[in-house]
Amino acid sequence: MATIDERYTKMFAESAKAYKKAVGYFPSGITHQNRYAEPFPVYFNRGMAGVKFDLDGNEVIDYVMGNGALLQGHAHPEIVAAVAAQTAQGTHLGGSTPFEIEWAEAVMRLVPSIEQVRFTNSGTESTYLAIRMARAFTGKNKILKFEEHYHGWHEWALPSQGNNPPAVVPKAIMDMVLVCRPDIDQVERILKNDKDVAAVILEPTGAHYSCFPIQCETFLPKLREVTAKYGVLLIFDETITGFRVSKGGAQVRYNIDPDLSTFGKIVAGGMPGAAVGGKAEIMETMAFRGTPDWDNVRRIGQGGTFNANPPTAMAGIVGLKMLAERPINQRADELAARLKKGINNAFRRAEVPGFAYGIASMVNPMLGMWPKSGNPEDPVISYEERRAGMTSKRTGYLTKAMLTHGVHVMGGQVFMVSSAHTEAQIDKTVEAFEASLRDLRNEGIV
Ligand code: PLP
Repeated sequence: MATIDERYTKMFAESAKAYKKAVGYFPSGITHQNRYAEPFPVYFNRGMAGVKFDLDGNEVIDYVMGNGALLQGHAHPEIVAAVAAQTAQGTHLGGSTPFEIEWAEAVMRLVPSIEQVRFTNSGTESTYLAIRMARAFTGKNKILKFEEHYHGWHEWALPSQGNNPPAVVPKAIMDMVLVCRPDIDQVERILKNDKDVAAVILEPTGAHYSCFPIQCETFLPKLREVTAKYGVLLIFDETITGFRVSKGGAQVRYNIDPDLSTFGKIVAGGMPGAAVGGKAEIMETMAFRGTPDWDNVRRIGQGGTFNANPPTAMAGIVGLKMLAERPINQRADELAARLKKGINNAFRRAEVPGFAYGIASMVNPMLGMWPKSGNPEDPVISYEERRAGMTSKRTGYLTKAMLTHGVHVMGGQVFMVSSAHTEAQIDKTVEAFEASLRDLRNEGIV
C-alpha cells in the first residue's frame, strides 16, 4: 500500500513542479512560514464557498479558510461584488473616505468596548500599535504575554511563541516582555511585584486558535479583575476570535470589557485589513492636541499607505453587516458542532487516542490522549500534554494525509469552519479524518 508521502507526491505533482521554481525565488520557497511543508506545499489557484482547487485540479474541502479570515467562505458573491465595484472606482483615494467611517460603525455595532478605532493592514501591526498605546497611556514599559500566545511577528510579540524564534530581538525589548502561563496566580504574583507592567495581552481563547485551551469562563473574568486591581491594561488580541467566537468576539461571548482590542482577518471581509480599538482615552494617545511637545514628541504615530483602503473597507462593511444581520455565526457553529461530534466518533472507531474540542466554529483535534472531564469546549490540556500529543511530525503528517483525502486542515491543528460549508462536506471530512487516523497508525505516527 502506498505511503502518505507517496500518495501526496503523486496527487499533487503539479505543486511539486511549482515548488521547484519557488525555491529559487523565496527563502524555503514560501511566502508565509506556516506554509512550509515537506516535501513541498500544495499550490492552490481558486476557491469557492467551502472548497478550493489546486494546480492538479483536485477539489479540496478547505478549513484553512484564509487563515481564519473567511467566515463566510471563499469568494462570497456579495463581498466580491462590493470589492469589484469599489475597485473600479479607485483603490486608493489618497485621503479620508466615507467608507472608513461606515467600516468603523460596523465594527462598533458588534463590539461594544470599542469607543474609537484605527485601521491597519495586519494583525501584527494592530498588536504592535496596541502595545505602543498601552505604554504611552500608562507611562509604564513592560508587557506581560502568555507562553505560546501569537500576536504577529514584531519584536514585542516574539518572546515565547513556539514556532517563531526570537532571533535578534534586542535584549532591551526581551527584558521588557514578561512571559508566564495563563495561570491567574502567576499573573497576580508578577503584577504585584513589578510595577512597570503596562498591559497584559492574550489570545482570549488560548494560544493558536485555542490549541492550548484556557478555561475562558473562569480565567478571563479573574484576569480582568487582577489587571484592573494593579492598574494594568488588558489587551484582547481578537485577530482570530473577533467576530468568530461570537459576533462581538471573545469579549462579548465571555462578557469581558478589555481596554484595547485588536482585530484582523474577519474584520476586513477576507481582504488584507485589520483594526485596533478600545477606550477613547487610550486611543487618544494617537490624537493630535495642537501642542508641539505632544504632537511631535509624545504622540503615538501611525502611518500605513493602505490603511482603510476603499476596497478593503467595502469588504469589511459588507462582511460585518452580514454577520450583524444574518445567522452566519450560528450556521458556522452548527456545522462545527457536527464536525466535532463526527471527529470524536472517528477517534473511537479508529481506536486512536484523541478527541476534538474547540469553541464556536473552531474545531481542534488533539492526538495522544482521551478527553478528561471538564468543559468539552475548553478542556483541560496541559502545555506538556499538548506538545507531547501534537508533535510537528504528527501535525505535518495529519495535514498531508488529510490532503490526500481531499481536506485541508490548518496546520493539522484546527478546522476553521465557515458558514459556506455544507453538511455533506462536513460528513466527508469526518470520513477523511478517520481514514487519515488509520494512515497515521499504519505508519506508526500515532
Ligand atoms: N494575533 C493573532 C491571535 C493571530 O492569530 C495572528 C495571525 O494569525 C496575528 C495576531 C497576526 O496577524 P497577521 O498575520 O495579520 O499579521
